[in-house]
Amino acid sequence: MNESSLKKKLAKLNLGGLRYFDSIGSTNDEALAWAADGAKDFSLVVADEQTQGRGRLDRRWFTPKGSALAMSLILRPTAPMRPHLSRTVGLAALSLADACLTLGLPPKIKWPNDILLDGKKTAGILVETVWSGEEADSLVIGMGINVGMSAVPPAESLQFPATSLEDMLGKAPKREEVILFVLSSLLRWREQIGTDGFIQVWEEKLAFRGEIVQIHAGGEATVHGLLDGLESDGSLRLRDEHDKSVIVRFGDVSLRPAA
Ligand code: ATP
Repeated sequence: MNESSLKKKLAKLNLGGLRYFDSIGSTNDEALAWAADGAKDFSLVVADEQTQGRGRLDRRWFTPKGSALAMSLILRPTAPMRPHLSRTVGLAALSLADACLTLGLPPKIKWPNDILLDGKKTAGILVETVWSGEEADSLVIGMGINVGMSAVPPAESLQFPATSLEDMLGKAPKREEVILFVLSSLLRWREQIGTDGFIQVWEEKLAFRGEIVQIHAGGEATVHGLLDGLESDGSLRLRDEHDKSVIVRFGDVSLRPAA
């Protein structure tokens, strides 16, 4: 992957702008700064390597040269999107899931922000917002995808197992192609972000649906229950042992199958 192969591959997407880096600290940091500096809607930052790739709560996201994909997309919310900004992580998850399906791989979404193949983490999402007073001025959707097998961190450093597209397919797809699949799908889902169908499809793709899971918050095990589905804002709904609904909102939460 290089700047010219990327430009050529993504030409039909009509990106607002494209910034490519051989190496960068974090594509989200670059995109946040660019958004604050007036980047157009649907502008994209791509890097071959991130040296300070971030997950949630400043956890590290491993993005080594040559095999990982790191990109951050800037969206300026349209009026129809505004009431549904909490669904943005779902927008990214559904687009990543579609890209897997296009490659012939059946994905699951580990709520809220990871894509699993064969039960293992293959991609992660980090949504951040540039605020203008009380209003979201722009959204930055960071996506890290393990394309080649050397993008997968060493097993002993992980809390949850990981894999790559190459491990699953026997061959690494071209990273430019993967970006095209994800963003083409995102353009379609963006039009539907306010619909009930959006939540339904998101819900159908949830990992561990109908199974007993454990939610960890701040390192502590909190709720334990059956993974039921999603609320209209994208929050997770569990059923506890008394068959009572428990809603888990976005935040410092990690989901695990119950031991
Ligand atoms: P979990 O998936 O364990 O519930 P999380 O969703 O809270 O954690 P994130 O912030 O989404 O975690 O991702 C960061 C974590 O993902 C890191 O702490 C690390 O364990 C793991 N990780 C980092 N890089 C990769 C990668 N390239 N592929 C898979 N997992 C990774």
